[in-house]
Amino acid sequence: MENSFRKCVICERPAFSHNYGVLSCDACKMFFRRVVTLNRDYKCKKDGLCTLKEKTTTCKGCRYKLCQDSGMTFQPNFMDLKDNDQKMDVTNVLGVLLFLDARRSKQMKTQFTDENFSLVQVLENRRMKLKTRRSQILTNHDWSFFGIYTSIEFFMSLDFMADEHLQTRDKVILYNRNGVTVKTFQEILLTSFCVKASLFASAMRAVKEKRDKLMTVDGKDVYPDEILKFKQFSLEFLKRIRSLLVAKMIELRLTIEEFVLCNVILFCNPALLITGAAQDVISRQQNIYTSALLEYCNLVYGKNGPSRFTDLLSLFHVINKNFEDVQAMTVIFKLCSPQTIYRRIVTDVI
Ligand SMILES: [Zn+2]
Ligand SMILES: [Zn+2]
Repeated sequence: MENSFRKCVICERPAFSHNYGVLSCDACKMFFRRVVTLNRDYKCKKDGLCTLKEKTTTCKGCRYKLCQDSGMTFQPNFMDLKDNDQKMDVTNVLGVLLFLDARRSKQMKTQFTDENFSLVQVLENRRMKLKTRRSQILTNHDWSFFGIYTSIEFFMSLDFMADEHLQTRDKVILYNRNGVTVKTFQEILLTSFCVKASLFASAMRAVKEKRDKLMTVDGKDVYPDEILKFKQFSLEFLKRIRSLLVAKMIELRLTIEEFVLCNVILFCNPALLITGAAQDVISRQQNIYTSALLEYCNLVYGKNGPSRFTDLLSLFHVINKNFEDVQAMTVIFKLCSPQTIYRRIVTDVI
């Protein structure tokens, strides 16, 4: 009779399934889950010298240690965590970001636009009118344009972007090959980050769809076919653009909450701005997002929170590297294929 049961490796009671990676009974499964989600830290009062019966019934410290030693692992989902003040603060910040991100994903999946405004026009409140995409086939250039545009809309929907200090125009003067151009702070922030944001979102889509490389929404390669004709691009280089960032995100097991927070932390880069007032707006906002990310890490990863936070920062370097590659590729592609026509907003930001 006894042999017809398999035993829980923790308490030796009958077990019917593997939970969190270990053959265990329901009671031990629930116990382990509760300790992790409530982020409790139980200590044995007898220095770990409890009997097996005590270890699996009365002493929570010993029981938790048995669970851990047996190899149980469980990463709680942020939404499963118990409510407390810290969680409420993080939830408020995350709510807006997750909503806007879901809207952007939906736009990418189902819509498109035929309009062709410049970045300045969009910032002057001329949003491009989106329409439902029916049987229309988009080119690679269409996809990258739309990824960039939906990222711009994402950032323009954040409240602080309407701050008057960010709309100041006259004080920033950039010298470039076209002579002097005057830009608003909004424009500077968006120009510097919207392509990276679009890459990052595209990589997150790959992670969600369990792919190890970037692809267009309709499942095609991110490059136009003719790119293979140009010997300037090595296959290695093209492969690196497709997979560098995605691989890092898979390795980190990046969650959607971490993704949306990293995205806005990178966007809010006060170093890009010159004057005090605009810089203050952006620094303050970056602090809000950074604190939310650290708090999130502490809530979800417990005592490993700070090291998780540091791991996430390593992602920033990879995003920049991926962007540099894309930028180099774009410049060379333009030289090889000068007849290609880009939408105005793409020319404005790359
Ligand atoms: Zn058990
Ligand atoms: Zn004990």
